[in-house]
Amino acid sequence: MSLPELERLKEYSFEIGPIRPPSEGGSRSLLIRATRNCPWNLCKFCYGTPYNRERFQLRSAEEIKRDIDTAKAISELIKVIAKKLGGMDWAARLIDPHFLCNKDFMELDEKESKNFQSVVNVFNWLHSGAKSAFLQDANSLVMRTNELVEVIRYLKQAFPSLERITSYARAKTLAQKTKTLEELKELRKAGLSRLHVGLETGDDELLKYVNKGVTSEEHVLAGRKAKEAGFELSEYWMPSLGGKTMSEQHARNTARVLNEINPDFVRSRRFVPRKATSLFEEWRKGEFQLLSPHEELREIQTMIENLEITGKVCFDHFINPAYRMGSDYVWLFKQDYDGYKFPEEKPKVLDLIKYGLGIDESLFTRAEDLVELSL
Ligand code: SF4
Repeated sequence: MSLPELERLKEYSFEIGPIRPPSEGGSRSLLIRATRNCPWNLCKFCYGTPYNRERFQLRSAEEIKRDIDTAKAISELIKVIAKKLGGMDWAARLIDPHFLCNKDFMELDEKESKNFQSVVNVFNWLHSGAKSAFLQDANSLVMRTNELVEVIRYLKQAFPSLERITSYARAKTLAQKTKTLEELKELRKAGLSRLHVGLETGDDELLKYVNKGVTSEEHVLAGRKAKEAGFELSEYWMPSLGGKTMSEQHARNTARVLNEINPDFVRSRRFVPRKATSLFEEWRKGEFQLLSPHEELREIQTMIENLEITGKVCFDHFINPAYRMGSDYVWLFKQDYDGYKFPEEKPKVLDLIKYGLGIDESLFTRAEDLVELSL
């Protein structure tokens, strides 16, 4: 059977940024890069290292729309290939560097790799129902609202099957007076539906220490504004970020701020020192002490005990508490993207913490063990 469409697939690539939240990977979201890198780059535990500390760049609406056109062209070709072969499962066998480039993945040059990543992203998205898209990178809301609205409308028009469009957003940007509630509502109306915000902590001393560039008050204002505009809101907190000295205040004030926001999702991402950041250096010199696994569980316990929200509490990342059982690792909390519904399942989470505290601490993975993974 002749498949000229497979040859034509090689002609198309669009820009894909380095990261997206795990829940967007799980939903196999279409990745559209709205901006490049992080406009802040100064959080002491991160320094924009997921983006290789590269300079922040806005992209024009026209440039982003060209990427959407390319994703559309790829999706049309994949649909034709799947039809000719008898379904997406058959087409899946051809979405392989050997068929596309006659090479192993590791042998692909930059252009081929970009092409392969683009095709794989569109294929996985189509294969899982083409329902969600994620606007990359660290803070798409920093774009001019009218340009972002234009991009979102164009995306929805290109792909009417989209039910969810999501993005990272900095609380500072959401809280700014210049980003009005009306503008947020306009973005929501255009089709942007979920925002992922890095809260990290609700404690002002710790926010300052890690140079988050936002106060707890701004976090509350930002979260409430996003909710009022109609967004589904995911807030990420970082157990252990305060080390031994700020653990208690970190837990209590994080719960306080989250209670004031009442987000739809609270997602937990344990702090692991990241190379090439100043917090990593402080830890290496002994100026910052990481919590032991049981200390960290007690911190999570304090946060959860004080948490009075009506959303979901999730531990959807493998860096969250896990312990060794024989030759396997078992995660203390379930890893799925919907986690535990509060307040109904709060007792369940507290029981799990109690159970974890009864397990020999030496069996748990420590943050130190994960450093080499450069998460
Ligand atoms: S945590 Fe987010 S805002 Fe802070 S430097 Fe990293 S990417 Fe930027």
